Amino acid sequence: MHAEVQGDLNLVNEPGPARPRHVLRSARPGGTRVTVGAIELGGPAFVVAAGPCAVETAAQLAEAAAAVAASGAHLLRGGLFKPRTSPYAFQGLGEPGLPLLERARARHGLALVTEVLDTEQLASLIDHVDMLQVGARNMQNFPLLRALGKVRRPVLLKRGLAATFHEWLQAAEYLLDGGNDQVVLCERGIRTFESATRNTLDLASVALAKARTHLPVLVDPSHATGARELVLPMALAAAAAGADGLLVEVHPRPEEALCDGAQALTPDLFAELMRRLGPVLAAVGRTMHASPAPPANVRAL
Ligand code: PEP
Ligand code: MN
Repeated sequence: MHAEVQGDLNLVNEPGPARPRHVLRSARPGGTRVTVGAIELGGPAFVVAAGPCAVETAAQLAEAAAAVAASGAHLLRGGLFKPRTSPYAFQGLGEPGLPLLERARARHGLALVTEVLDTEQLASLIDHVDMLQVGARNMQNFPLLRALGKVRRPVLLKRGLAATFHEWLQAAEYLLDGGNDQVVLCERGIRTFESATRNTLDLASVALAKARTHLPVLVDPSHATGARELVLPMALAAAAAGADGLLVEVHPRPEEALCDGAQALTPDLFAELMRRLGPVLAAVGRTMHASPAPPANVRAL
């Protein structure tokens, strides 16, 4: 019994009842599809979530949303509550920024992904956004995971900065154990001895997560590298490695960004990334997900 489970996950080091049950591919060999608005993750098509690290101003978000929509992004990301290393750094607009995201969704038809930092914020976000992100610093916030296990909203679970593959899966296990199977894993780089890049992108874990679990997997080349020039090559590598999609930071003017400007793509670079993904996806037998249609009232304008 134990040997069989070890063979299944290969890297499971936790014997007995604490081992993962729900996330393993053997629990659902056909894979799980996660539906976010009109977009499906975990199917044959590749999905791109893009937008600024933080929602800063109405103009900034509107420009970012228009740019990523024009280039074919499927989901709009934008942090309202920012987990910052320094308490003096910009902490995000919080709830007052929500209407800016909702306006962008109404304008472009992009479903929304934003981070929820704690259980108290959940009530204010749950009915307004399409996917809730658990950030790397919160991957083992067990009360938050328990709460998100009980809601009917897809969750984007980022890998902790220093989390092993096994710990990442166990965090996902909390969500599925609570009854929420709409979970997407996100590899965003881990901390290693290497300091030339912000983090070290662990693409092997992406391939392993695809093989050993039934959950869709996104790659975040922005936080994984911390450097704009590395985002495009790592995004292409992620697509080649079998990721289901990307989470990419894009800012209309990265030099003015209040958060993570050095890793933000300009709209032009994001357009280039979207163009260059096509041939890589074709080479591995994938296609880009269809763009979401703008809402009918906007199409008529
Ligand atoms: C983010 O997506 O902006 C973010 C804070 O990411 P992470 O939790 O991976 O650091
Ligand atoms: Mn960021």
